[in-house]
Amino acid sequence: MPNGNVIRGSRIGSAPERPPERYEPAPRQAVTYWCRNDHRVEILIAAEATAPPLWDCPRCGLPAGQDAQNPPGRARAEPYKSHLAYVKERRTDEEGAALLAEALAKLRRRRGR
Ligand SMILES: [Zn+2]
Repeated sequence: MPNGNVIRGSRIGSAPERPPERYEPAPRQAVTYWCRNDHRVEILIAAEATAPPLWDCPRCGLPAGQDAQNPPGRARAEPYKSHLAYVKERRTDEEGAALLAEALAKLRRRRGR
């Protein structure tokens, strides 16, 4: 058995006085990107690093750029169409009215009217 305290400093209550180690993060800069779906992405990179011109949007996977007004790929995007606009492409107003009446009738039956 070797003489001496092998597990030096491990005794409870004998820890040397020293200030708690402070975690000093490296300086960062926040860079904000927008994709053409108006998703806002903020990333933190090292302050001295140059922000990449594009960043993949984590929500939709499209490339995002730093200009909110002009996100990459917008020129190629088809014009925005609401869900209703798509429905109206597939259905005439008459069909829509019939579907609505049918749905309302079902709803009223379920409610026992
Ligand atoms: Zn997106």
